[in-house]
Amino acid sequence: MKVHAPSFFKDFRCTGSACGDNCCRMGWDIEIDDDTYNYYKSLDCGLCEHITSEDGEHYIKQENGQCPFLNEKGLCSVLLEHGAESISEICDQHPRFYQWFGGYKEAGTGLCCEESARQWLESAGNVRFCEFDTDEEDDDLKFDVELLGAVIKAREVLIGLLQGGLSLSQKMKALLIFGLNAQEFEYDDAANGFEALAGEFADCERVAALVNGLGAPSRDDIVSACRQVLDYLAGLDYMKQMLPDAIEQIRGRLGEIIGAAKGFDEAFPEAEGQLCAVAVYNVYRYFTECARGGEALPRLAMCALNVWFIRLWDIMMFVDGKFTFTAQIAAVKEFSKEVEYSDNVDAFYEDVYTDGRLCADNLAKIAEV
Ligand code: SF4
Repeated sequence: MKVHAPSFFKDFRCTGSACGDNCCRMGWDIEIDDDTYNYYKSLDCGLCEHITSEDGEHYIKQENGQCPFLNEKGLCSVLLEHGAESISEICDQHPRFYQWFGGYKEAGTGLCCEESARQWLESAGNVRFCEFDTDEEDDDLKFDVELLGAVIKAREVLIGLLQGGLSLSQKMKALLIFGLNAQEFEYDDAANGFEALAGEFADCERVAALVNGLGAPSRDDIVSACRQVLDYLAGLDYMKQMLPDAIEQIRGRLGEIIGAAKGFDEAFPEAEGQLCAVAVYNVYRYFTECARGGEALPRLAMCALNVWFIRLWDIMMFVDGKFTFTAQIAAVKEFSKEVEYSDNVDAFYEDVYTDGRLCADNLAKIAEV
């Protein structure tokens, strides 16, 4: 099987006990595959006392906010006592993600992990992809070959745009325009639609003209749109306090934060490229879902929302003298954990069509910050 992945994919190493936010302490239920569950049962050594089963699926129950198998050094006691082959598939693979299309597979690592986030952000402006072969058997899930080809082509164009010379604001607006255009074609004709849009968006000057055609909203309109989207985010459910606290602080200091944007850009010009890397991650990971019927607009809108929110958070940290690359990684990871890796993303995909606060007009305005 051919695997397509970011060029740093194979270099990923979990930092284990050195990790500042071990994924075994994130409050997630950890799913255990059947084989691992049956193996634990056969060991009969009490492991299953910490596992709950529901509708045929098995989960490690969090205890005191962490995986009960985590030892005092932040290491996995199951792995240490029973060997690396004894841990479940998710524990073995996290934060890697995959998508299978017959003999072709896409892979990457998620931003919910600080080490993975560091890799993505360090590749700012220059995220490259590679292909390698594995001896894995082809996947037999059906998909439309022509549509996948067109979606991948369009994704390449978008990633090229994100790593090209437009401003961050122009790039986010370009994603939204692409998403809105993709609403126009029927699913049956989606391959042709993506192909045509890829052709149009490959022309950078044309994209700049499209974006500039949106006009320049007033500062009051930008602040109002930001407030509405922050209100939306404040209404979501979160596992931990860090992200909702940041949302509340940003809401309370919005004018000050928007006013400090220029100073932030001058002080930390590299941050823009890092936010583009966050956008490349989003587009790389989620845009291919369009080849299986997923819609482009909510995925591209989530990308724009992610970049905008991290930027506001960055600027707030800058104003407080706390912005560093490490702080940037923590913000990116926290948003990923609480929004991307939660039910919030599914809610957003629906709300983007029904909640006026998330209308394309507002999302284009917040991209001005
Ligand atoms: S968050 Fe990443 S680096 Fe930290 S323990 Fe989990 S996989 Fe390892």
